[in-house]
Formats: sequence, structure tokens, C-alpha cells
Amino acid sequence: NRQILLASRPTGEPGTDNFKLVSTPVPAVADGQVLVRNHYLSLDPYMRGRMNEGKSYATPQPLNEVMIGGTVGEVVESRNAHFAVGDKVVGMGGWQEYQLVDASQRGVLQKVDTTHVPLSAYLGAVGMPGVTGWYGLAKIIDPKPGETVVVSAASGAVGGAVGQLAKVRGARAVGIAGGADKCRYVVEELGFDACIDYKQHGDVKSLSAALKAECPDGIDGYFENVGGMILDAVMHRANPFSRVAMCGMIAGYNGEPIPMSAPQLILVNRMKIEGFIVSEHMAVWPEALKELGTLVATGKLKYRESVAQGLESAPEAFLGLLKGRNFGKQLVKLI
Ligand code: NDP
Repeated sequence: NRQILLASRPTGEPGTDNFKLVSTPVPAVADGQVLVRNHYLSLDPYMRGRMNEGKSYATPQPLNEVMIGGTVGEVVESRNAHFAVGDKVVGMGGWQEYQLVDASQRGVLQKVDTTHVPLSAYLGAVGMPGVTGWYGLAKIIDPKPGETVVVSAASGAVGGAVGQLAKVRGARAVGIAGGADKCRYVVEELGFDACIDYKQHGDVKSLSAALKAECPDGIDGYFENVGGMILDAVMHRANPFSRVAMCGMIAGYNGEPIPMSAPQLILVNRMKIEGFIVSEHMAVWPEALKELGTLVATGKLKYRESVAQGLESAPEAFLGLLKGRNFGKQLVKLI
């Protein structure tokens, strides 16, 4: 069973030397336990926060332990009445090829139906990132038909879902993403009304002018994944009583300062700004997954995956995710 451990904590930008690949025997299955062969590992920006020691909303990852992470896979051995060999499951298997789950941990392993939804989608559009987009959009922004919703990191796992869910609700969806290819994909494949390449804009003024052109009626809802200059530019185009779902601030995950240049606009525009952590809202997951699952199964919710091959490629792929080298949901194929 190959595993990747957190070997050391990064200062600033992490490197591959913060991780260590080890080989251990495949664990024996005791009464009540289930052995899962992980097929895909999900790489997510929150893992960067867990690599730090300090206090954050996520508990730090202990050193020399298997990196935490969401996985999908197949039950290969079961001594637990609730699971049978061949069951497809989603869980928190970590950065490793096999995962042993105890009966007492039941609930951390969920069976999934792959008849209409591919297994890997349970880590993306029909999984944690999809529910994240759903929660911020449906519960915080709650767009009315005809309103304008803007989302940053728009080609990503979370952002891609946000814009498409906004369209389903009759809103206008405008993405912000890095590069012409990602912007083209967001409009042509995901069906957003427009997408702005922030890399073409060197300052808040220029990005804010681009937002004005694409959002002629202003911005009613903003789904924030990035922070910094992008947030500032959106603030300048925000309408009175607009809502901001504060989901992520990836521009600051390596400790970069991300000041807000005009917080007075919150007051001027009577804005509602709400941060949220999706795992604290388990009560809405069934409702969210039902809508997301139906939309994916019927081809109405599209997504894209960046798949790295083999466990050993996980550290490099993770560093790439933090730099925008991924294009869509970043996965690692383990089998
Ligand atoms: P993505 O698939 O969107 O990948 C991350 C993307 O962020 C990159 O592709 C890149 O896109 C963009 N990015 C990285 N660095 C910068 C930067 N300095 N400036 C601008 N853009 C940058 O990841 P996810 O969809 O998994 O996550 C999106 C966000 O949602 C993250 O901030 C994450 O932390 C947050 N999140 C929050 C949750 C919660 O419960 N609150 C749960 C899950 C995710 P580009 O090339 O377009 O710049």
C-alpha cells in the first residue's frame, strides 16, 4: 500500500520535499472492517491550510501521517454487513492506494450509484466541491431571475458549478478565470454568459472596467474563491443589497497579504458578506446532491477533470492546483 505522508511544514509556497512516499503492507481486515481500493484521490485547496501548524478552520495535518483527502474506490474485502465486495464508495481515504475503514467509523464511507454518474464525479460536481458551489449560490446569494452573478476561479470544480446553477435559476452568469482557454471553456462549454481573463488586467481599475462591460446592470451576487485584486474589482461594481458568498481566498493561501482596498463599499451598498465552510452544513447535502446528481446525469451540469496518473504524481499535481495549472477538478488516478 503506497502512501504519501506530510514530511515537513512549508513556509510560504510548499514544495515536493514537504511530502514523502512510503510503502506499507496492505492492512489485514478485522471483524467489522472494510478494505477499499481507492481509484481516485481528490486534490483540494483546503489541503494547503492543513499543512500549516497554526490555528485555522481546518485542524492541522499531523506530521508523518498520511495526507488527508477525499477518495472514491471499490470495496475489495468486507467483514462488515453494510458493505459488499464490489460496492463503489466515496470517503476520506487519504493520499494512499488502500484504505481500511472500521465499522465504528460508519458514515465516513458512503455507497454511491455509478449507473448515471461516473465514479470520479462524486469527488467533484456531485461531491464536496459541487455542494460548496450549491450552498454559496442557493443559500447565500439566492439569485432572482435576471440578476447578475459573478464567480472567480470560474473554470474550477466549485466555480464551474456555481455559474451553471445560477443559469438554472435564470440569472446571468459571469466568470473570472486565468487565461483565454479557461475563459473560452467557461462560456462555450459551461454556458456562462461571459468570462473575464483576469490575467489581462494588471490592476483593479482595469478589471473593474471589464466587469462594467460584462455586467451592465451591476453585480447582485458574487461567489468568491480568490480574494485580492479580483474581490476589489467586484466590490466597485456591486449593486445595493448585493450578496457575497465568501468561499475561498486562494490568492492568500501561501501567506500572501490580501488587503481589501475599499471596505466602505460594504456599507455604501448595504452588502451582505457571508463566509461558510461546507462541511458545517451537512443538513443541506442531500438536497444539494440530489439537484447536482440529476443535473449531471441529464447532461445539464458539465464539468472537466485534470487527472494526474499514479499516487506518486499527487504532490506535483497539488502544487499545480495552487498555481492554476489544473483545468477543472484536480484528481489523481490511483489504479
Ligand atoms: P479550483 O479547481 O478552482 O482550482 C483552484 C483555482 O484557483 C486554480 O485553477 C486557479 O484558477 C485559481 N487560482 C489559484 N491561485 C490564484 C490566484 N493567486 N489568483 C487567482 N486565481 C487563482 O479549486 P476548487 O474548485 O476546489 O476550489 C475553489 C475555491 O473554493 C478555493 O478557494 C477553495 O479553497 C474553496 N473551497 C471552499 C470550501 C468551503 O467550504 N468554504 C470548500 C471547497 C473549496 P485560474 O487559472 O483561473 O486562476
